[in-house]
Amino acid sequence: MLNLFIETVKKLEITSSTKEKTETIANALKQINIDEELLLFSRYLCGIIYPAYSPKKINLGTKLIVQAIIKAYKLDKETFQEFFKGSEDISECISKIYTQYKSSVRKSIIFSDRSIPESLKDIQILFDDISNISSNIKKVNYIIDLIFCLPLDILLTVIKILTNTLRVGIKEAIVEKAISVAFNKNIQIIRKAMFYTGDIGEVAVHAKNNKIESIKFKLFHPIKVMLASSEENIDEIFERMEKDIWCEYKYDGIRAHIHKEDDRVEIYTRDLKNITDQFPEIVFFLKKIEQSDFLLDGEIVPFQNNKIMQFSLLQKRLGRKEKIDIAARENPCTFIAYDIIYDDGKLVTDLPLHKRRALLENKFSSSGLLFSKYKIVNTKEEFIDFFKKSKEEGREGLMIKKIDSIYESGKRGINWIKYKETLDPLDVVIVKAEQGEGKNAKYLSQYTFAVWDEKKQNLLEIGKVYSGATEELLEELTKKLQEYAVKELENGYEVKPIIILEVAFENIQISNRYNGGYAVRFPRIIRERTGDKSLDEINTIEDVKKLYLKLQKEAN
Ligand code: AMP
Repeated sequence: MLNLFIETVKKLEITSSTKEKTETIANALKQINIDEELLLFSRYLCGIIYPAYSPKKINLGTKLIVQAIIKAYKLDKETFQEFFKGSEDISECISKIYTQYKSSVRKSIIFSDRSIPESLKDIQILFDDISNISSNIKKVNYIIDLIFCLPLDILLTVIKILTNTLRVGIKEAIVEKAISVAFNKNIQIIRKAMFYTGDIGEVAVHAKNNKIESIKFKLFHPIKVMLASSEENIDEIFERMEKDIWCEYKYDGIRAHIHKEDDRVEIYTRDLKNITDQFPEIVFFLKKIEQSDFLLDGEIVPFQNNKIMQFSLLQKRLGRKEKIDIAARENPCTFIAYDIIYDDGKLVTDLPLHKRRALLENKFSSSGLLFSKYKIVNTKEEFIDFFKKSKEEGREGLMIKKIDSIYESGKRGINWIKYKETLDPLDVVIVKAEQGEGKNAKYLSQYTFAVWDEKKQNLLEIGKVYSGATEELLEELTKKLQEYAVKELENGYEVKPIIILEVAFENIQISNRYNGGYAVRFPRIIRERTGDKSLDEINTIEDVKKLYLKLQKEAN
């Protein structure tokens, strides 16, 4: 099946049509009769080595692969840079070096007692090995062994999966559709199964075996959060919500789903990362709650002396590997619940919002759990008063929810609306990082940023941001961005689109300086949002256009 995978990727590389991609994948899926191969095939196509709920991680960035190539071929840095500069990404760079330098025959440690991979299962064993190695030096040596012993097309496939650079533009939605076509299953059922498992591989296998309907929701398999669309016009909000308009404070924190069963508590972010270890104080509190099993939706916020604190304190808590207890004491956080998704053995997503809220309050009011503040309003005056109150209390604005709406996981629909009065900042992704000047010369501190095109297939550049980041953040981003480099530039790198920033700005102009056709003027970084927002959720060029038109209207 490894050959089938390699061939499929080649076919996908040469088409940009979603229909053709879906057909190509569906045809391939139909040919796979071994469950484990099908599972891995579907996951790898989506750039997934381990599903989000798995504690296993690869922890191998481009930097270590570069070290391995340099060491393997005994290259000096300049020679390597020459190859790297002229390549699209690291796998193309390896391909050029591999073909130019005849690799000497070496005795392999990895393949001394196993044969060269023939199946995707064999590839997964390599990934498991890498994930089990904790030292970077050993990881580099392992990659060197792969460079010398794997045939080029297999090596490139391994590197592409490892660095998530298959570049076939495959989104989970396309693979979902292909599964539905290949195994003749209704797409809604496939999506539901995805919602329950969060694992495209498991869904493919169940679809093939005609067991898709048997997939049930399981705690500790993170699911996607329900999302809100943005609306600044109150009349529009009233029209959409009709009456009994549910207005809720919008808290500035990290969206979290908390799963609990007996003594086990796990916290997941909206991009399904497990952040349980980062918040021991919240886990401690939840473990004491008597309810046996549940899934709550809400926001983690910094909290001291019974008061919600500013978001920046929460940033100090994220991504820590050491001294977590000290950080928890210095900047304690709490969880504010606003929804319940699973209760006592049952999903409650199909209950209307007001019933879910009543359930939440009934079950947890004596536990000390905090709930979001809300009010049901029927006039614009009431709405504005409640909005003002939320601002006075330091909140970001309001979330408006349809009172009888069900919980739609992963959906940004019209049943939840966010209302903020000011010009929303943009959520963008860094695509190039360059060395700064003056005191920032030691950092990659100038970031070209991008948003999605209308179809969410390509990223379009719309500006470059130099200011707003603290030195601490610059240091952290510099380290990460070096890891994500895919191509050398004169003064920095083109990077994999991973780091997400929230950027405020003064104006937007039409411009041909960037390929997005707009230039965001005087941008400044408000904060990093990687982990809190996924790449899929950053703004689109449509949003930029809307903001541009709005600013134009205001100026006239
Ligand atoms: P944004 O991040 O600007 O797209 O706004 C949506 C986010 O607001 C959600 O993903 C939540 O993290 C956050 N949020 C804060 N308060 C609430 C609330 N009461 N209900 C739902 N989401 C909320």
